Amino acid sequence: MVDSIMLRMGVAPSLYRDGNYKVVTPIDGSVIGRVTLENADAVEARITKARQAFEQWRRVPAPRRGELVRLFGEQLRQHKEDLGALVSWESGKILQEGLGEVQEMIDICDLAVGQSRQLYGLTIASERPGHHMRESRHPLGPIGLITAFNFPVAPWAWNAALALVCGNSLLWKPSEKTPLTALACQALLDHASEAFGDEAPADLSQVIIGAREAGERLVDDPRIPLISATGSTRMGREVAPRVAARFGRSILELGGNNGMILTPSADLDMAVRAILFSAVGTAGQRCTTLRRLIVHESIKDEVLSRLEKAYQGIRIGNPLEGSLVGPLIDRAAFDAMQGALEQARQQGAKVRGGERQLADRYPDAHYVSPAIVEVDAQNDLVRSETFAPILYVLPYRDLDEAISIHNDVPQGLSSCIFTTDVREAETFVSSVGSDCGIANVNIGPSGAEIGGAFGGEKDTGGGRESGSDVWKSYMRRQTNTVNYSSELPLAQGIKFD
Ligand code: NAD
Repeated sequence: MVDSIMLRMGVAPSLYRDGNYKVVTPIDGSVIGRVTLENADAVEARITKARQAFEQWRRVPAPRRGELVRLFGEQLRQHKEDLGALVSWESGKILQEGLGEVQEMIDICDLAVGQSRQLYGLTIASERPGHHMRESRHPLGPIGLITAFNFPVAPWAWNAALALVCGNSLLWKPSEKTPLTALACQALLDHASEAFGDEAPADLSQVIIGAREAGERLVDDPRIPLISATGSTRMGREVAPRVAARFGRSILELGGNNGMILTPSADLDMAVRAILFSAVGTAGQRCTTLRRLIVHESIKDEVLSRLEKAYQGIRIGNPLEGSLVGPLIDRAAFDAMQGALEQARQQGAKVRGGERQLADRYPDAHYVSPAIVEVDAQNDLVRSETFAPILYVLPYRDLDEAISIHNDVPQGLSSCIFTTDVREAETFVSSVGSDCGIANVNIGPSGAEIGGAFGGEKDTGGGRESGSDVWKSYMRRQTNTVNYSSELPLAQGIKFD
């Protein structure tokens, strides 16, 4: 099955059949590919080639560069079903979400194509007669991209589409758990390059199949001016100081601990649907998964009983066979979830769900029923991100308290409030409300659109990707002063003769 998907997308079989590193699907634990992990020398050679590709690509006019991204978007449209299914095979998310990820890639390509005609600068008034002052944006260089298993393709595309139109080359180190989707994306981009012609240099985009050592090699290399890294806060803590030590730039998209404040005036039917999608979707393995439900004490019992009912109807199973919740990525994720639930029980919390499912049918995979954990107050366990479907439920009495509980975690990615009270809604999105990069009203915390900037504050790393003015991160800024007079006046009125 995976072989035929790869073949249809034009990936050379030698890349995913012959290696010594096994790629395992979380669906049933079987081996779906064998890739070769690259060593430090191979990474070094790729960085050199990426530098050469950059030197050529930056000369191509930006709207022409946009044409390559347009062709890539066409490839994605053509292969959406295959790539979406491959995302499911490798990451275990349900097919609908796999297809959604590919649609996000298509959307960012569309956005980047338009942006390729809008890489604008500024004009600034000069104090000197006969002078023009302006600010220009120029391509940056090879961009190092490090990505996580749970969104194996979309975050790469958010970066890649914009970085390419901005005139940069790409070096992508995907998660070692999801190399096949990366090889497929590379093949589709290669097809687009062939259709585009000679202006696109060889090695404009390269994939580095490797584990964290390969990522570290990118992180430390001064020829890579920008590292965009998606993954755990642990990873970001290691990457950020190393990039800073060589004065490189980084975009960090790290862990989240996303909350919803559920107020007495909320439309509970809507809220329960939003909770379900955002707390159990992708088996709780989204960076934007709803992990904390901060609910007004007057409606807590009703909400919990509605949620229990909704949770009972969740179809858990093979993500390619119409389930709503697929497997956890691996045994370590399962153990981490069980450990967190055990700790919660020991602390006196009430735990519903969380048991292993389908162990007979899939002894080598890890399906679980999503858990709801009632706690009295926010403690260190609730403050940490366990990458699994655990929803902590915390009561509050007034909005100030709810916001203070909400913000009292190290992470700051996504957040939301459900309310029909305009004062509560506007307070939540004001300067004294949510401290997250994303704050929504009457929408769950996950499922962002491409047009907005995506990312978060605090331990989430501060990076932004995707829409708004994020394209500027992939360019260097230059201030230009042009003297078109025949005098040489100095600024600040300085006389030097
Ligand atoms: P991870 O941190 O284990 O790995 C992410 C990537 O970093 C992998 O490619 C890995 O090989 C690489 N890596 C790890 N240590 C490194 C190092 N020291 N130097 C260089 N590279 C290194 O994360 P994961 O388990 O794949 O993904 C889950 C995590 O990612 C969760 O915490 C989730 O919240 C987060 N995430 C965040 C976003 C976001 O946009 N904020 C999106 C997706 C996932």
